[in-house]
Amino acid sequence: MANERATIVRGGRLINPGRNRAEPVDILILGDSIAEVGQPGLTAPADAIVIDARDRLMHPGLINAHMHGHGNLAKGMGDRWTLELLLAAGPWISGGRTLEDKYLTTYVGAIEMLLKGCTACYDLTVEFPLPSVEGLEACGRAYADAGMRAVLAPMVAEFSFYEAIPGLLDAMPPALQKEVGRLRLAPGDATLNAMRESMQAWKFDRASVRPAVAPTIPHHCSDDFMRKCAALAHEFDVPLHSHVLESKAQAIVGLKRYGKTPVAHLQDLGLLGPDFTVGHGVWLDHDDMQRLGDHGSSVAHNPGSNMRLGNGLADVRGMLERKVNVGIGTDGANCSDNLNMYESMRLASMVSKTQGPDTDRWLTTGEVLDAATEGSARALGFGGKLGRIAPGYKADIVFLDLHNVNWLPFNNAVNQLVHTEDGAAVHSVMVGGRMVVEKRHVAGVDMAALARQVEQARARLEEASVPNKQLFEKVERVVNSFCPGLAKMPYHVDRFGAGHHVHEHAAYSH
Ligand SMILES: [Zn+2]
Repeated sequence: MANERATIVRGGRLINPGRNRAEPVDILILGDSIAEVGQPGLTAPADAIVIDARDRLMHPGLINAHMHGHGNLAKGMGDRWTLELLLAAGPWISGGRTLEDKYLTTYVGAIEMLLKGCTACYDLTVEFPLPSVEGLEACGRAYADAGMRAVLAPMVAEFSFYEAIPGLLDAMPPALQKEVGRLRLAPGDATLNAMRESMQAWKFDRASVRPAVAPTIPHHCSDDFMRKCAALAHEFDVPLHSHVLESKAQAIVGLKRYGKTPVAHLQDLGLLGPDFTVGHGVWLDHDDMQRLGDHGSSVAHNPGSNMRLGNGLADVRGMLERKVNVGIGTDGANCSDNLNMYESMRLASMVSKTQGPDTDRWLTTGEVLDAATEGSARALGFGGKLGRIAPGYKADIVFLDLHNVNWLPFNNAVNQLVHTEDGAAVHSVMVGGRMVVEKRHVAGVDMAALARQVEQARARLEEASVPNKQLFEKVERVVNSFCPGLAKMPYHVDRFGAGHHVHEHAAYSH
């Protein structure tokens, strides 16, 4: 241990789901990991750095199980968009990015997450028409510079949104069909090669920033491409993530395309396993949940995005009952407009409570906190390393200011963390034993300079994106009549067990 820096955190209150009031403890940190958690007065090396954490509540860094770094420069650009309109708007709001823009959009999100108590994320980023070594390197560098952990998964596919939805192109006049033709993606093999090259050239410490593979949406990919994505992930021992059953239109398209649910199809392709995460899973039925649970797979639950895009309310209790690992995410700032994990926890709790009068089926605040920490950690492939303040875990710790109005009075730590806290009480944030946020300020960041840089990028992108914006305005009406048409078709989802057979999704039937 001679070369390992020692830090002793003294007197902070440690959140504990078993106790209403968190008790003061001392935490000894060696290098980047927690060595010991003990009573106040814990022995520490004489030269240890001392952190006075009195009047602070300590909780494990929150872990965002699903977000999109490219979305941060697009925050606030849309309203009243379904998922399908958001996908159609993609080339406008996220297109034309330079390498510097790719860094900047990722960096802004990392700063936001750190300031809001989040220390690791699963970033499903995108480049058009295929990922690049330099692009992924720029995104990875943004997290490394900010001092945050990330799993960086390029979203890849073979078919554009217009090619992926059966009948959508046919619903367009020929001139428009031709125009959307320019949104065609690179051939699958070129995309797979680019990911392989990127993983071979990976220059970041994988304990902090690691790669993953994200075939974006199953029906945007051929079966062969999906299998090759999984083989690539297995070859490099990295996780897999895909948007599955996020919208009802996807559920209908999945049935049309596969003759079974997309999850049943993914199982047949051999993709399900402990390294596989379903993004959203709003339209999973109980058999799908069972399949995911049996394979030890995860769902990244994004309640804010699910409501904002009108996709519905996911049945997290049903997932937990079937041993699905559940993590919590914010989704991208292009469709939930902030990256606030406190808000996501609050919404996860509330969404569970809107779905029926049986309080046993509601999530407890403790279950929500578990999902946003250890559950998300498992989805990221960091199980047993992140998500707890305990010996052997990385020292990723958030310190909340108990003098903040959110904690006046301090009645119940876990209830207030999930239902009251909104990020305003975040005082400091430690990642790997190093303080990256102190006194509500990210170390080494000049926010005024960052604001100038972001504004320059915004203004340039606004000008450069005019053709793609005009194309969106042309396709908007077609997409917004065709896709809700799909979503009006009946879809049978057995969601509430015996005696509660429903033929429509809760969010659409009430
Ligand atoms: Zn997403």
